[in-house]
Amino acid sequence: MPARKVIRMGHPTLRNVAAKVELNYLTTPEFKELLIDMYDTMKIEGGIGIAAPQINVPLQITLIELPENNDRYGDMSGTPLMIIINPEIQYLTDEKQGFWEGCLSVPGIRGFVERPKKVQIDYLNEHGEVKQIIVEDFLATVFQHELDHLFGKLYIDRITDTTKISYNEEFSQFVNARADDTLEE
Ligand code: ZN
Repeated sequence: MPARKVIRMGHPTLRNVAAKVELNYLTTPEFKELLIDMYDTMKIEGGIGIAAPQINVPLQITLIELPENNDRYGDMSGTPLMIIINPEIQYLTDEKQGFWEGCLSVPGIRGFVERPKKVQIDYLNEHGEVKQIIVEDFLATVFQHELDHLFGKLYIDRITDTTKISYNEEFSQFVNARADDTLEE
């Protein structure tokens, strides 16, 4: 399956709330094909997550996978591929944490975003089973970034200190952040 084109900030699909997935769609060949294409696109683009709207498919589907023993996310435990459909998020704490986020749909740039440190996500998996996961720390930010894509939001909207937006080259040169304080999805 070919990787698909990632649409960029400015494309209206990234600003719309994606549609909830119907259960009967999960048994179709189109759904399987979409998952494979999303996965391939995420890998080729070097992301740890991708949302269907990023390839111009306005459905509430997102993939997240943190590779194990990866240099960039070395401290983070590897997370097997998770397929998240029709998610609902609850914030379990007011405490916030900040990471330098990047986005396949906002290429070349990163920005510092503070988000709640612990969240609960209720969702369907690819078999249509009801699931719940509680995530904290780095993974909580990864999930929130990805879920935002399903509701028309980009991490850019969440930056409160706009002096903390940087091109990647200048980020490497001037920002003293550890590699595992950054993410790309
Ligand atoms: Zn993104």
